[in-house]
Amino acid sequence: MNRNFNLGILQKNKEWDVAIIGGGATGLGIAVDAANRGFKTLLLERSDFAKGTSSRSTKLIHGGVRYLQNGDISLVIEALRERGILRKNAPHLVRDLSFVIPSYDWWSSPFYGFGLKVYDMMAGKLGLGPSTLLNKQETLNHIPNVNKKGLRGGIIYHDGQFDDARMAISLALTATKEGATLLNYAEVKSFTKDGGLINGLCFTDIINKKDYKIRAKVIVNATGVFSDQLIKLDQPNAKPMIRPSQGVHLVLEKKFLNGPYAIMVPQTSDGRVLFAVPWNNYVVVGTTDTPISKTSDEPTALKEEINFILRNAGNYMTKNQKYLT
Ligand SMILES: Cc1cc2nc3c(=O)[nH]c(=O)nc-3n(C[C@H](O)[C@H](O)[C@H](O)COP(=O)(O)OP(=O)(O)OC[C@H]3O[C@@H](n4cnc5c(N)ncnc54)[C@H](O)[C@@H]3O)c2cc1C
Repeated sequence: MNRNFNLGILQKNKEWDVAIIGGGATGLGIAVDAANRGFKTLLLERSDFAKGTSSRSTKLIHGGVRYLQNGDISLVIEALRERGILRKNAPHLVRDLSFVIPSYDWWSSPFYGFGLKVYDMMAGKLGLGPSTLLNKQETLNHIPNVNKKGLRGGIIYHDGQFDDARMAISLALTATKEGATLLNYAEVKSFTKDGGLINGLCFTDIINKKDYKIRAKVIVNATGVFSDQLIKLDQPNAKPMIRPSQGVHLVLEKKFLNGPYAIMVPQTSDGRVLFAVPWNNYVVVGTTDTPISKTSDEPTALKEEINFILRNAGNYMTKNQKYLT
């Protein structure tokens, strides 16, 4: 993929079948699909590919274990199927990861154990291994730093982990191979119209500080949390469609988990799940879900969010260690 070469193609093309705005997982996935179907496809990303949430996830290719709690069965089945397909298609980017849910009540192990057996059954042939109940010693063997006070045992289950940013780059390369033209550092600024209908867009090449106008039969807004800003370029009075919220992770030292297993906290103080996941010699712990009024390319963790994660993770892990890096 060569940016100058792609700029050359862009200038030669009179009209695109599909122009995609946003080079995150969604936009890049659409580019692969559209190009693969033979459509003349252009993708514009204002920053680098996967600059948004697509490089800042918890890195889980999970079969939707968190949706099981809400009884959203069809979503779990779909997520498990997609997990299996992704693992088959991109074995270099997706790996199996075992999660332990430590239990401190008499009911936790049978309750979550039953739910996870259902999860295994729903995965069917695409399952990554059977979930199993652990006794107290086995739980300690898997998570040496688990909080021992009141520990009764645990459950181990299996899900997937992936490299989100590399996945995005793989999608970008695949889309290019399929004939799509991708351009990063290209910010869409406005739309052009013909008879009241959008027929193209104007963007700025941020690197060369040059403006371009292109025509397209279809324009896809794949700008994630920024989607409303794009809509407002065309309809300044449009009602917002998105209620933005931010999720943050803490990156802790490897010794926080002290092993290759991840932890799933099934119920945080605000009723969500929290993960502590080994990642490239560190441990990623998160996430939060905090409503915000303004979206930003560089969101920062709030003090309350840091405290929330430390408090909830601290309920499950031994304390008095300086984990923060
Ligand atoms: C904290 C957190 C943890 C998560 N963990 C997981 C997980 O473990 N597993 C999982 O599967 N999913 C996870 N997700 C969800 C996943 O990350 C998102 O669903 C996914 O990244 C959304 O991708 P996207 O392409 O829609 O958005 P984004 O990746 O945000 O891409 C939108 C792109 O649009 C670009 N853009 C905006 N305006 C313009 C413009 N005017 N011109 C050109 N480009 C523009 C932006 O620069 C950005 O790159 C998580 C999400 C969060 C917030």
